[in-house]
Amino acid sequence: MTQHTLHSAPVDALRHDWTVDEVVALLNLPMNDLLFKAASLHRQYFDPNAVQISTLLSIKTGSCPEDCKYCPQSAHYQTGLQKEKLIAIEKVIAQAEAAMASGATRFCMGAAWRSPTDRDMPLVVDMVSKVKAMGLETCMTLGMLSDSQAETLAEAGLDYYNHNLDTSPEFYGEIISTRTYADRLETLQSVRNSGMKICSGGILGMGEQESDRASMLVELAKLTPHPESVPVNMLVKVAGTPMEQIEDLDPFDMIRAIAVARIMMPSSHVRLSAGRENMNDEMQAMAFFAGANSIFYGEKLLTTNNPEANTDRQLFQRLGIHPEGRDTVPPVSAWAPDNCPKRPHQDFYDATSKLGA
Ligand code: SF4
Repeated sequence: MTQHTLHSAPVDALRHDWTVDEVVALLNLPMNDLLFKAASLHRQYFDPNAVQISTLLSIKTGSCPEDCKYCPQSAHYQTGLQKEKLIAIEKVIAQAEAAMASGATRFCMGAAWRSPTDRDMPLVVDMVSKVKAMGLETCMTLGMLSDSQAETLAEAGLDYYNHNLDTSPEFYGEIISTRTYADRLETLQSVRNSGMKICSGGILGMGEQESDRASMLVELAKLTPHPESVPVNMLVKVAGTPMEQIEDLDPFDMIRAIAVARIMMPSSHVRLSAGRENMNDEMQAMAFFAGANSIFYGEKLLTTNNPEANTDRQLFQRLGIHPEGRDTVPPVSAWAPDNCPKRPHQDFYDATSKLGA
């Protein structure tokens, strides 16, 4: 087995042979040691003050035949969710324009399907090619894909495909019964074969053991190459789903998982994903220090009230974080006072404030 050393050349740190015991040991390091290791590695691969921003749009909502116990979109549970058929291309374009103006570099489109049908494919292909032509990176999550569907999407210009492993192979059967872990891995293989990048992660706080978190991270790191994007979600408990009453996750366990994901997959973007609205600013700051360097900016950018975007903007300002793909931020000591007409990244903050926030 390759010896893992945090200060080796970056290429040496990309391992695919982690064991569950090793990962459990990392998860149990004293917090300060764990954060130091993760943050040290983070800055070998990335600007530690840059966070990639994606915007997520639901292009088809609810009535999903799968029975994922955490999901309000499953037709198996009564959650009162407003269902919506596949939306029109014009709405997708409008949302993508708003996302771009807000500083997003990637536009993710999600449909609550088991897998896309032949009738759906031309419509989603059109969405991909039009959003791509606007200059945004594109990502989709549409359920399981065949090899030919993955190839079609790749040819249309889809950059990323999201398909989460959700949890460990051992715990998976407790969460979903309508498809298998092997199905998930098969879709990821089709995505990889097509040349698209993989976005794959999981959800914490579903009643899993620490060993399940370790085992899920082992499975993700086995993928060769590592998924380019690794979303780490904290369960959002939705009334009507079987997970409604589950015990709260210790927020420090979320931070630990982010830090360990950063150590195991140092060249991947680790996304602080679902559940962020339930995290306070201090927890999010800690997650960024632990190695999270990607967020979703919410999907309601065109609504008149967008406190989520506003809060994010203020948090970025307070932390000296800038959106990835923009110029680097100067040290805080060099920042102009509040009343200066042009503060660092004012264009980003101004653009987002025009969206009704
Ligand atoms: S496949 Fe996706 S949309 Fe469908 S129930 Fe599972 S998580 Fe929800």
